[in-house]
Amino acid sequence: MFKSLEEAKKFIEEEDIKMVDFMMIDLNGRWRHLTIPADRFDEDTLRNGIGFDGSNYGFAPVEKSDMVFVPDLSTAYIDPFMEIPTLAMIGDVYVISVPENYRFDQDPRNVAKHAEEYLKNTGIADEMIIGPEFEFHVFDHISYSTEPHQSGFKIDAGQADWNKNDEEDNLGYKMPHKGGYHMAPPQDVLYDFRSRVTMLMENQGIKVKYHHHEVGGPGQLEIEVEFGSVTEMADKTMMTKYLIKNQAIAEGRTATFMPKPLYDEAGNGMHIHMQLFKDGKPLFYDENGYSQLSDTAMYFMGGILKHIKALCAFTNPSTNSFKRLVPGYEAPVTIGFATANRSSVIRIPAYAKDPDKKRFEVRNPDGTCNPYYAYAAILMAGIDGIKNKMDPVEAGFGPYDFNLYTLSDQDKVKIKSLPKTLDEALDELEKDNEFLTESGVFPERLIELWLENKRADTKKHTQMPTPMEFDMYYDL
Ligand code: GLN
Ligand code: MG
Ligand code: MG
Ligand code: MG
Repeated sequence: MFKSLEEAKKFIEEEDIKMVDFMMIDLNGRWRHLTIPADRFDEDTLRNGIGFDGSNYGFAPVEKSDMVFVPDLSTAYIDPFMEIPTLAMIGDVYVISVPENYRFDQDPRNVAKHAEEYLKNTGIADEMIIGPEFEFHVFDHISYSTEPHQSGFKIDAGQADWNKNDEEDNLGYKMPHKGGYHMAPPQDVLYDFRSRVTMLMENQGIKVKYHHHEVGGPGQLEIEVEFGSVTEMADKTMMTKYLIKNQAIAEGRTATFMPKPLYDEAGNGMHIHMQLFKDGKPLFYDENGYSQLSDTAMYFMGGILKHIKALCAFTNPSTNSFKRLVPGYEAPVTIGFATANRSSVIRIPAYAKDPDKKRFEVRNPDGTCNPYYAYAAILMAGIDGIKNKMDPVEAGFGPYDFNLYTLSDQDKVKIKSLPKTLDEALDELEKDNEFLTESGVFPERLIELWLENKRADTKKHTQMPTPMEFDMYYDL
């Protein structure tokens, strides 16, 4: 929003801003914040930044935890949820050093920016633009249950009073199981919620393509946005999740991007569409190619498919991610590409026919990723594919234009599976990370840190008894 401190100061004065809030991204991809009174926002804040404890962000060991946050003026915005007039901005993390502080190489924004610079330096393209699709659940309240379709949490997921099954005020409108796609009111009680979020997003410069009720009924929603470059879109991903979650809270509800909040219901994906551009020209179109894809697009896809198992460690980094990647819910389970096929990990949308719209989507990612790392990792895999001319057809990745959930025995041998657990994805990343680290875009220390951090999650997941286990085994 601002180009200079003077501009920002003028705005603070004119709009009577009381607080300046700094949004910082932790290792896992959560926003944290720290606030200063607006009249203290000065040259020193921009030059020397603000000190914080990096160990609580997952970045640094306790003994080296002093770090510095430097706000990025160009990201400034008014926080619509704060009662006190607040100007917020996203920023970058620096390591303290004499005489000059330097950019922290593992900082998510830094990794994403480096990946974009790396793409430019290869000469392949000037820019990758991406469009994530945000799927999420909105619940009225949560409490624990092990009932089918409600396991995890008992919900009244955006169900109006009429939808309470066995209660007096049941008027009979019920969102069918796995049947919520594009449902209209009265089943869809969250239209106004999505519209309000859409208006908030547009106010923050995030162009919304459309919003709708999703398959998982009731309460699974989706908002799709217009495309943007990698770091820009990662910032916008953080903002979108913030607006959705806070608007839900403002309405007495709660929103989650958990990939699989409910057993035997559709899960929440965050499919990512992508295109490369050079000198303003799209690089993915060739009228004679498979599905009108160019060689560049095929190689890019080939790179992603080659590294997809390791990529899962960044694109699907929670133990819950792998409860979504199961057959039958339009989430991918096998490694392959095809046109218009929602059971495949890469889908080429049949309706995107124009040269400057030609693209494909990667369907495995979910909203528990750190978007900066996830987008950057996908880009690095794609670049590796182009550099090494990885032909996805030769590599046996397809095209598979049939339902990949019901494979013949013969196909089962041929077609490889995505990892089935987070542990498996982490094993893959441990073996296959050169495409990320060799260029220095992903520091080796970041890979180590990521593995350590996520292994701690898998340990809890595999070693901790759960309510479902009490249900199944207590009286055996
Ligand atoms: N919810 C599905 C997934 O988990 C996608 C469904 C769709 O977009 N049609 O990826
Ligand atoms: Mg969609
Ligand atoms: Mg969808
Ligand atoms: Mg999609």
